[in-house]
Order: sequence, then structure tokens, then C-alpha cells
Amino acid sequence: MERSKNKKILLSLILCIPFVFGGFITNDSMMPYFRMKKIVLDAGHGGKDPGNVGSKAREKDINLAVTLLVGKYIKENMPDVQVIYTRDDDSFPTLKERPTIANNNKADLFVSIHSNSAPNKSAFGTETFVMGTKHFDANFDIVKRENSVILLEDNYKENYEGFDPSSPESYMMFNLMSKVHFENSVVLADHVETQFRDRVGRKSRGVKQGPFYVLWTPSMPSVLVELGFLSNSEEERFLMSQEGKEYMASAIYRSIRDYKEAIEKN
Ligand SMILES: [Zn+2]
Repeated sequence: MERSKNKKILLSLILCIPFVFGGFITNDSMMPYFRMKKIVLDAGHGGKDPGNVGSKAREKDINLAVTLLVGKYIKENMPDVQVIYTRDDDSFPTLKERPTIANNNKADLFVSIHSNSAPNKSAFGTETFVMGTKHFDANFDIVKRENSVILLEDNYKENYEGFDPSSPESYMMFNLMSKVHFENSVVLADHVETQFRDRVGRKSRGVKQGPFYVLWTPSMPSVLVELGFLSNSEEERFLMSQEGKEYMASAIYRSIRDYKEAIEKN
């Protein structure tokens, strides 16, 4: 009698095993599978802020045209991804509002699109930034220029709590983003620069780090793309042409597509 009771206990324990372990397995496989569903595209500058100015081109116009094309390609080819623009016209969202739009919408990716400028008119090529402070001194001019749009905003002193874009000390308050967001940002930035170099034949100046205000606050992987130098007449002409804009936009679109595929696999 005692023996058969023990047997029963043993049997019920054995029967429980698949549920116990199965429970773990089920929980694991029921982890929500990551899907990139929402992307915020940010055309740099706008409205009263033209950004960099070439001999004819204004950065804000180039940025907007390319950004809208990127959005169009995503909508056409990735219907499961929602595209949100920080601006889709010549308006002036503040530097603070742009990442806030991404955070409020719980976006999975934030891509800010800009065009460069340099006193040396022969400088040309693309570069894609992720949030970080490596080689900060070398990139400080670009960072300062992109962040200085804050000075055009009303009440910037109150809104940015004393942040002064031209003072290196101000950047001490920039916390670095989480490791996983940083790593994913670098994955996307790599794709962007590879596409620019290999598929559009641009000179890639590489993936870089910079403490851009617009990359500081988004709670998701984020990159800032510099399409080229408007101070370089050849690159300005390329970026002003419809063909140039389409090439650059499709390169960014393809890099987002490849990024999505890569991170959804993991
Ligand atoms: Zn810019």
C-alpha cells in the first residue's frame, strides 16, 4: 500500500516535469518577438533656421526633400512600419521637440538627416554620427554648429537649463545612451555609410560619435546622417539634383531595411 502511494507520488512528479520545464520553455518562446514598427524621420533645421548654406542650397530644403523620399520608400516597401516625421514642411520644431516626438510615439528608431559644411571648401563626403564623445575635439565644430540652432529658439535658456552649445563644459551633462541602443545605432550607422560608399559611390568619412543634442534624449537607437558638404560645389550640385536626392534617400532606406532585418533576426 505504502509502496503504491510512493509510486503514485513519483508518477505525479514525473508527470509534472514537462509542465515545469515546459513552462520555462513556453515563457521563453512567448517573449514578445521584436519587430521594428515605428520610425521617426527628422529633417534637420527648418523654418527660420536654414542650417548650413551653400552657394545656392539651403540645408533645410535638402534635408526635407531627402527625408520625405526616405519616408516614401519605407511606406512603399515596408507597409508594416509606421513613419512619423518631426516635420514634413518648412516648419521649425525645436531641438528638444524632435526627440520628444520619438519618445512620445515610442518609436523603435530615430534618424536625423542633415547636410554638412566646412570652411575648407574641398572637404566632401558623408558621415553618420551616433551619440558619444569619442574624438569629441575633432568633431566639435560640427556638433557645435548642429546644436547652436538652440540659440534661435525663444526662451532657450530656460528650456535647455543653461546648456550652451559652444561651451565644451556644457557637454559634461550628456549621459551616454544605453549600451544596447548604442550598439544598434552603430549597426544602422554602418549600414548607412556602407550604402553611401558602395551603392551610391560617395566618399564615406565613416561612422563617428558626437554629443548632438538631438541624439541625446531619444530612448531608442538613433543616428544623425550628414549627406555631404554644401560648402563643396560639386557635392552641393549633387545634393541639389533630384537624382542625387533619390540616390541618397534610397541608400538610407536600404540601410534601414537591412538594419530591421538584422535586429529582428536576433
Ligand atoms: Zn544640420
